[in-house]
Amino acid sequence: MTALSAAGLGVGIALAMLGANTANAGSISLAEKLEILKNTYPAVISEIRGSEIVLKSGKTIVTDDGRDKDHQSKLKYADVEDSLSQIYPLGVCDQGPPTVNFDPGRIRNSALMRSLYGDTEAMAKATLRKVEWFGRSLPVTTRHGVDVALESVRDDLKKSPKKIRKYLVKPGGSFSWRVIAGTDRLSVHSFGAAIDINTKYTDYWRWAGGQPGDVPIYKNKIPKEIVEVFERHDFIWGGKWYHFDTMHFEYRPELIAIGKLAESRGCDG
Ligand SMILES: [Zn+2]
Repeated sequence: MTALSAAGLGVGIALAMLGANTANAGSISLAEKLEILKNTYPAVISEIRGSEIVLKSGKTIVTDDGRDKDHQSKLKYADVEDSLSQIYPLGVCDQGPPTVNFDPGRIRNSALMRSLYGDTEAMAKATLRKVEWFGRSLPVTTRHGVDVALESVRDDLKKSPKKIRKYLVKPGGSFSWRVIAGTDRLSVHSFGAAIDINTKYTDYWRWAGGQPGDVPIYKNKIPKEIVEVFERHDFIWGGKWYHFDTMHFEYRPELIAIGKLAESRGCDG
């Protein structure tokens, strides 16, 4: 390899890394993402037929409403395509604090989430099981193996250095049928598929004085070791969002799988 081509390669790698945090459509097609989604939730999704998700119940969900939306509109009216449009960054694709309006996983399609976990509070409640969590007992859904995944997170964290315990004790909570503050959208806590760790060490964009789409300087006190363990078991972290919520972890195996695929393709999501 000549010195010139080596330098060119270096530029190529640098460009690929620059693109990581802003990946939107890129090289992973919607069809590939939907295939991953189907394989992630086989108990609910029976097939992808053209532009529709066909559920085992017989119901269908249109994946793309064809509307062009800005970020706030995506958060409010996300179709499935919007919900998969930002690639959750993993490994070398994780380039530190998120850029403006980079919220991978925070854009959710309400119809899909309700189909996956329960359309009403009673339906969601009926799926819960208590999981022991550092001296507390947390209600977590048994749907899609969320309870078992959280137990794996806990068991791995128990093997981690003792200095991380303070972030894990006195968790903020798990199941709570409620809307996200300042919105009329259901939180993932409504489905028992999210956990807030100790609120004492959290940073949250609203508490930091942020407005939707206008968030103050990113802050975080949660150690990387904790995030890596959650991600190993298919939970995403709210600390990777522009609208940051560093106590928050939610079960999104489809986004972890798409993130890994992007990483294998040089972070070209
Ligand atoms: Zn939360």
